[in-house]
Amino acid sequence: MADPSLKNKAENYLKYLCLDLPTRRVGSQGNRNANEFVAEKFASFGFKLERQPFDCIDWTQGAATLCLNGEQFQVQVGPFTAGCDTRAPVVVACSLEELESTDACDKILLLRGDLTREQLMPKNFPFYNPDEHKRIISLLEMKKPRAVLTATARNPESAGAVYPFPLIEDGDFDIPSAYLTEEEGERLASRTDEMAALVIEAERRSSSGFNLAAHKGRPERRVVFSAHIDAKDNTPGALDNAAGVIVLLLLAELLKEYDGRIGIELVPFNGEDHYSAAGEIAYLRANESKLNQVLLNINMDGLGSHKGKTIYSLYECPDELKAKIQKTFTTQSGFGEGPPWFQGDHMVFAMLGIPALALTSENFVEILTEIAHTPKDSPDLVDCEKLVKTAITLQKMLADFT
Ligand SMILES: [Zn+2]
Repeated sequence: MADPSLKNKAENYLKYLCLDLPTRRVGSQGNRNANEFVAEKFASFGFKLERQPFDCIDWTQGAATLCLNGEQFQVQVGPFTAGCDTRAPVVVACSLEELESTDACDKILLLRGDLTREQLMPKNFPFYNPDEHKRIISLLEMKKPRAVLTATARNPESAGAVYPFPLIEDGDFDIPSAYLTEEEGERLASRTDEMAALVIEAERRSSSGFNLAAHKGRPERRVVFSAHIDAKDNTPGALDNAAGVIVLLLLAELLKEYDGRIGIELVPFNGEDHYSAAGEIAYLRANESKLNQVLLNINMDGLGSHKGKTIYSLYECPDELKAKIQKTFTTQSGFGEGPPWFQGDHMVFAMLGIPALALTSENFVEILTEIAHTPKDSPDLVDCEKLVKTAITLQKMLADFT
């Protein structure tokens, strides 16, 4: 059995991060408190702290209503949208060609069909932004509708367990937006040219946050352990990703006497679940010329589920490193190799050709499609014993390195 005092600590961390804090949304006080809490713990275990500050938008929402001639339609407030209170006719576009030829100026524009298959990347997202997304966004800005309504089908790959999912989630996009189900979209599409009254209650505020990095030992040759600390609004964010942060906290304690030859950096990334990826960008900026010093990134996201094993996947790892990592995991129970996935912060490193190792739960598809980003992601889904086991295993892996 894992060290009972560590397990106890893990349970307390879990309760604090998921239940005591009202939210860990980037830009919120809860998010700053979570980061200060972790910073204080890291410092108490002898780590040197580095705060990478950033500006961001914090955002709060009220209700959204859409009414055509006395008939109500179910619409939801688009995340990070500006608010509006407007009356205008509805026009529809289902494809890029239709969008190009539609006169949407001063109208309420409903997007459906091919245009709404996958969530659009935010305008200024630096890591991945397909031309088609950019084209849709720039057309919308050119057409100047009063508001955009998006009717979306289910798409767990793009939006996790959320249905309908918001097509637009972007604090830099200034046209008010709301989203609705495919069925409501169909009903609305048959009512074009009628006057619609749309109210979206939402408010954007400038705010700030920081990305934390904690160091021990020589930074010129270091292993970076990471786990995003932020969460979407409206979720306790237990598996996604208090669990990963707890492994960082346990590992920090296990390494409190560490003085090995390899440097260690602990990074609770602050922006994996925020449209702006502000923490990741702040980290990259602070490390511009120093990323070639990173020997390996170990990123944790969605691990510690009661169900199944903890699975690992490798990215950009040379054979020798691969063999070393695989050996550590095969000598420990409860771990297995799983398929690669590309929606986590390990890609920050892997995209630059830096070796990375990602840890998650065997039932990650279920987590992604049923649990993540919803109120269901609560502490009772997390097995703290698995988190302790993971921290101890990572400590062993580090010892093999030196
Ligand atoms: Zn996550």
